[in-house]
Amino acid sequence: MDTTVSLGTFPTPLEPAPRLAAALGLEQDRLWIKRDDLTGLGGGGNKVRKLERMVATALRDGADSLITTGAAQSNHARLTAAAGARAGLPVTLVLAGEPSPPAGNLLLDGLFGARIRWAGERGPGGLATFADEVAAELTSAGGRPAVIPFGGSNRDGAAAYADAARELRGQVPADAVSVVALGSGGTMAGLVAGLGAPHVLGVHVGAVPEPAAVVAGLAGAITAEPVSAGSLRVRTDQVGAGYSTLTSQSAEAVRLAARTEGIVLDPVYTGRAMAGLTAAVRDGGIGPDTPVVFWHTGGLPGLFGHRDAASLAGQ
Ligand SMILES: *Cc1c(COP(=O)(O)O)cnc(C)c1O
Repeated sequence: MDTTVSLGTFPTPLEPAPRLAAALGLEQDRLWIKRDDLTGLGGGGNKVRKLERMVATALRDGADSLITTGAAQSNHARLTAAAGARAGLPVTLVLAGEPSPPAGNLLLDGLFGARIRWAGERGPGGLATFADEVAAELTSAGGRPAVIPFGGSNRDGAAAYADAARELRGQVPADAVSVVALGSGGTMAGLVAGLGAPHVLGVHVGAVPEPAAVVAGLAGAITAEPVSAGSLRVRTDQVGAGYSTLTSQSAEAVRLAARTEGIVLDPVYTGRAMAGLTAAVRDGGIGPDTPVVFWHTGGLPGLFGHRDAASLAGQ
């Protein structure tokens, strides 16, 4: 059976961003944006590539529903809901916290017909345990649920981004540095496997406690040689007061991309990644003549669901 199901629209475009390059201090023809926000399904984003593999695995295993976990404004949960609708599999989302009004991703979760189970105050480990309990409930009722891990980051998810790296290699110079948000780690891990550690800069968003170790583990699962955490380029200076907060650097980066290129980033992931790129150009980690690919991994619905979004419209 196939290792992927077709859910998205590929290859995604690679667009030059000369006005943003100049504003960041890069030479004008040295910055491209890889539009993985335009993957098509359910509002788009990086989780579509991962879900093409994970839904195929679930179907091969004979699953009749999907379960996954996330924050209330999880893009991954929203895209799992959309993928389930497309594949004809009912979806249960186990979300952190208490019931909240349907805005942003949560509104779309409901639109795609997902069932939501609120987990209250449990950490990421607690969320996974609760997802297993929900799976056990469905199984004892005669169902066969597939549990998709947090952020879609397992071997399948990382492999999907190794494929994306191959797609990119046909579009840009070989020495380009890819800049990407590092959440649950599978996206960076696949890019590291496909492009090599020196060619990938990950910007930690505060979703996992040990980002470099997580990425090294996931990358090593799909490469011939183990990958050491110390070989990875990871910036940890953009987390601020935590994952769901809007940092001033992220806000500034979201405004800059919008006002130079008409491109919308999100406060949690791509805004932080762009702020990390800004910091890397400032401190010399990325030289002005380095070819840079900024991975736009999606997140637009999260902008509309973020409590501080209104502040982005001002100066
Ligand atoms: C999940 C996500 C990421 C991070 O990808 P991981 O594979 O979890 O590290 C980046 N950007 C957006 C918009 C996301 O939803």
